[in-house]
Amino acid sequence: MLPKPKKYHPLKETFRPSPLLIIMCCPQLSASAHRYLSSSLESSYSKLLDFMDPDSETPHSVSLELTPRKGKRPGGHYKIVSRPQDTVISAQDYPGLVHGVQSLRQIWHKAARQGKKDSARLPCFDLEDWPSFPWRGLHLDTSRHYFDYKVIRRYLDWMAAVKLNKFHWHLSDDQGWRLESKRFPRLHEVGAWRKEEDGSLYGGFHTRKQVRLVLDYARDRGIEVVPEIDIPGHAMAILAAYPDLACFPRDFEPLNVWGISTDILCAGKDSVIDFLKELLDEVLELFPGQYIHLGGDEVPKERWKECPRCQRRIREEGLRDEEHLQAWFLHQLVAHVQKRGRDVIGWDEILDGGIDSRPIAMCWRGDGVDAARMAHDNGNRYIICPNNRLYFDWRYNEDPDCPGGFGVTTSRDVYGLDLGKFRFSNPGLFLGGQANLWTERISNSRRLKEMVYDRMLYMAELFWSDFPSRDFAECERRVKELKGLL
Ligand SMILES: [Zn+2]
Repeated sequence: MLPKPKKYHPLKETFRPSPLLIIMCCPQLSASAHRYLSSSLESSYSKLLDFMDPDSETPHSVSLELTPRKGKRPGGHYKIVSRPQDTVISAQDYPGLVHGVQSLRQIWHKAARQGKKDSARLPCFDLEDWPSFPWRGLHLDTSRHYFDYKVIRRYLDWMAAVKLNKFHWHLSDDQGWRLESKRFPRLHEVGAWRKEEDGSLYGGFHTRKQVRLVLDYARDRGIEVVPEIDIPGHAMAILAAYPDLACFPRDFEPLNVWGISTDILCAGKDSVIDFLKELLDEVLELFPGQYIHLGGDEVPKERWKECPRCQRRIREEGLRDEEHLQAWFLHQLVAHVQKRGRDVIGWDEILDGGIDSRPIAMCWRGDGVDAARMAHDNGNRYIICPNNRLYFDWRYNEDPDCPGGFGVTTSRDVYGLDLGKFRFSNPGLFLGGQANLWTERISNSRRLKEMVYDRMLYMAELFWSDFPSRDFAECERRVKELKGLL
């Protein structure tokens, strides 16, 4: 199985499957959750029967039991008790049930591929499992290249299969804005389209209806969607739609080259803060999750240094410099988001200007260790996604023909990441990790899968299992067992 469960006890007894599977769902589940879990089990079971001669006498039932027990166990905990007559999956929360169903699918998938059809049998076993970290994420940049909701739903299926639970959706950048806005329609009418060098228009945006389809799909799979609106830098698409938000307004266009723009949102204009508060209200209304990501990475400060309004803000607020102006700017929005009961995440640059302990830092620069220590010592919760290990736009092997950019990060590199380096005196601040997929060099779904799979599988085990010693070859065998399942 992958991720490997914490406790798995196979029993001596084995059994042949019945041609009929009975699924009993607990009444608390929504109709769509019921549908998702039942159809996942039914499709796996019917494939199983292609590989095993069924036992016509004994029907088999799978019961899904949800028994909330707050505070006793980590979120996502589940148990499976499997015997010849029935299998019971029990969990304290809905994600736990999803994890249990995914584990059972993997066990059936492996059993079906072992032995001969007339002698293959299913194991009886007891299993208890839970995640080591609450944050096990996968990121997707739909700004540099646009991927529609059908591709995103496939992405969510891969995530659910290996118990990843946070989908970080990068919706805005210099090269394109990707979210339909009722309040500020020029964002998607203008900001979603860039003129390529050959004169053609490239772009697209996710309609609110499509976003809801993604959100529903993710919820059924126990996955929370975390939207990212990247500010105050990486904002050319926003400035193309609303140029007055810049320090020095002119006709802007979404960038048609990779890299970052020196034009950013002005931190000296109150109208910029008001615009962002209204925009964030709209985003928070659409996305029901606990977290919103506000970027904060790679913000060139040239414009702020020249801008009289930004300089006046620095003087009036008694700020030390432009780094502290960025922290002040973010604080205005953190306070606004927290009033609505939500939490803000930012890339680790947010720590540079003396931020308070409220925002969650996503530690990406270099090996992520310095940023994690800085977050920890400042009392901020943090998530790790080190640039040199968990950026899946990097090449996955040394072959010169391997797609991707920057450096090389192999599956072995991913699996070998030493999580101990990110633990300090208060381990509760370390929420977990994720891999990021920037899409400058990824323009279609085939390449998308190539870059994510199979490094994603090793990353998923890393943050679910957190085993102190890991054997790559052993994990590789389990990765191979998944073939045909995803
Ligand atoms: Zn300014």
